Amino acid sequence: MQTLTLNNGVPMPTLGLGVFQTPPDETRAAVMAALDLGYRHIDTAAVYGNEREVGQAIRESAVPREEVFVETKTWISDYGYDETLRGFDKSAAKLGLDQIDLLILHQALPADFDKTLAAYRALEKLLAEGYVRAIGVSNFMVDHLTALLDATTVVPAVNQLEIHPYFQQRAVLDFDDRHGIVNQAWSPIGGITFYTGEGRQSVLDDPAVTAIAGVHGKSPAQVLLRWGIQQGRSVIPKSTRPHRIAENIDVFDFTLDADEVKALNALESGRRGGPEPENVTLAAYGHILIPEA
Ligand code: NDP
Repeated sequence: MQTLTLNNGVPMPTLGLGVFQTPPDETRAAVMAALDLGYRHIDTAAVYGNEREVGQAIRESAVPREEVFVETKTWISDYGYDETLRGFDKSAAKLGLDQIDLLILHQALPADFDKTLAAYRALEKLLAEGYVRAIGVSNFMVDHLTALLDATTVVPAVNQLEIHPYFQQRAVLDFDDRHGIVNQAWSPIGGITFYTGEGRQSVLDDPAVTAIAGVHGKSPAQVLLRWGIQQGRSVIPKSTRPHRIAENIDVFDFTLDADEVKALNALESGRRGGPEPENVTLAAYGHILIPEA
C-alpha cells in the first residue's frame, strides 16, 4: 500500500476505508473485508457510533494491529481541554486500543474558537505522551488554520476536507501544502453529491468522468480516487459492499494524463455539499453527545 509521510515522519497509507453512515451492525464485516482486500487504514469518528465495531474487526482480522492505521475524530461536544482528553479515553476504549494512529478535531467551532484551541492543546498533550501518533483537523478553512497555527505548537499533520471535482477548495489545499499539512479528501468519490437526496447531481455520472473511465477501462469511482491520489492527497472512500470495497482500492495500476487531470479540475462548481464550516456551532450540532465506552 502506497503511503504518505506525515509532517512528523509517521507513514500513513494513502487510501483508507471511510465508515461514515456505515451502520454499527455492518461495520465489522466492512472493515474485515477491507483488511482482507489490502486496506491498512480505517477512518472513523466518535460521532459515527461505530468505533467499537471498527476495533472488533481489527482484533478479529488476521492483519496485525500495528499494520493498521486507525484514524478517528473528536466530536465538538467533547471540545475543551479536559473534555477532549476524556473524549480520547472514550474513543480508545471503544476501539480497544491503547494508542490511536491519528486523532483529529472533527470541525472548528469558529464562534467558540477558544474551546477549539483548548481541544487542540489536549491533542498536543496526547501526542507528547504517545497516546496518539499524529494529530490533525477536519473542515478547517484558511482563517481557522491561521488562527490555530498562531496559537498552538504542533502543525496539524492532516486536514480532512470535502474534496471531489465539483468542490475542490483550492485555497485551503494550497494553504495546507505550504504548511506541510496532508490534504485528506472526504467524499472522494463524491458521495455528498448524491447521498443527501434529490436535486443533487452525482459527480460519478458526469460525462467528463465517465469518458475518462471509458478510456482507462476503469469505473468513475476509480477515476476520482486516482485523481485525488495523483495530486498528493489521501482518500478515504466509504462502502459497505465488498465488490465496491475491492474496486475502490484497485486504483494503483493506471495513471491519468495531464489533460485528464485538467478536465477533472475544470468541473469545479463552487457548491459545497456538506455544512458550511463557518456555521458549525455547539447550538446547531453540539446536542449530539458521545456516550461513554
Ligand atoms: P464517498 O465519496 O466515499 O461515497 C460513499 C458513497 O458512495 C456511498 O453511498 C457508497 O455506497 C457509494 N460507493 C462507494 N463505492 C462506490 C463505487 N465504487 N461506485 C459507486 N458508488 C460507490 O463519501 P463519504 O461522504 O462517505 O466520504 C468518505 C469518508 O470520509 C466517510 O465514510 C468518512 O469516513 C469521511 N467523511 C468525513 C467527513 C468530515 O466531516 N470529516 C464528512 C463526510 C465523510 P455503498 O456503501 O452502498 O457502496
